[in-house]
Amino acid sequence: MQRYENRRVLVTGAGSGIGRATVHRILAEGGRVFAVDVDETGLKETYAQAAAASAADRLTTALLDVSDEAAVRAGVAAATGTLGGLDVLVNAAGILRSEHTHKTTLDLFERIIAVNLTGTFLVIREALPALLDGDRPVVVNFSSTSASFAHPYMAAYAASKGGIQAMTHAIASEYSKQGLRAVCVAPGSIASGMTTGTGPGLPEDADMSLFAKLAPAIGQGFAGPETVAGVVAMLGSEDGAFITGTEIRIDGGTHF
Ligand code: NAP
Repeated sequence: MQRYENRRVLVTGAGSGIGRATVHRILAEGGRVFAVDVDETGLKETYAQAAAASAADRLTTALLDVSDEAAVRAGVAAATGTLGGLDVLVNAAGILRSEHTHKTTLDLFERIIAVNLTGTFLVIREALPALLDGDRPVVVNFSSTSASFAHPYMAAYAASKGGIQAMTHAIASEYSKQGLRAVCVAPGSIASGMTTGTGPGLPEDADMSLFAKLAPAIGQGFAGPETVAGVVAMLGSEDGAFITGTEIRIDGGTHF
């Protein structure tokens, strides 16, 4: 499939997990990608993997903190300049931090909102003028099953992802007559840096019985990030042409 020939794509969170898998999927389908992350080592690995697949000539990587307004302004300008415009924006950057709600500091709460929700907003705001000039433009945002289903110890994260869902619906309506689609994926139980890497896990005294309901019904436990990347690629292509203002849950049936 070559659904991304002549398509210009900006991917955040591209140095790890689902963002990286999305970069590789879109490159494999002929797209040109500007890939950003705060993780320099991760971005180098994303680039090395693209080079090994003989696709690095269509990939540019750059450091970008999506929670930094000035950096986002400059980063999106660099992306649209390099790509000569923009057709698809994939907002995969995010952080997961778990804590008992009664022990969550304001700093921690605000940091999670700043990266996940405000960061998604900032990148969309800066990219919108180029997207509205683009070809069949699409924004793919990252919600989470935690936005709609109860995940303990993740109140701030769930709030950030619920906000992304609501914002996505508003944007889908607001720009629908200009041909822009805005959609969320809502993953769950995906193996990535966030869920299996060095990031902070659950509180030490977490009550694991609260997770009894949170297991995939199919597969062998957590799925690989490419399972989400394939859906993101579909949504950003003409195969998703009649999908907007909604979210697609990708969790192996955890939340039937
Ligand atoms: P991941 O492997 O940790 O990838 C997220 C990437 O975003 C990391 O490289 C991370 O860098 C980067 N990042 C963090 N803060 C950033 C910032 N301020 N600016 C730019 N980049 C930043 O996790 P993932 O699972 O692939 O996550 C991708 C998206 O899926 C996230 O939005 C996540 O919330 C969502 N999601 C994942 C799951 C799952 O089961 N894995 C479920 C629901 C939703 P650092 O590693 O340095 O932090």
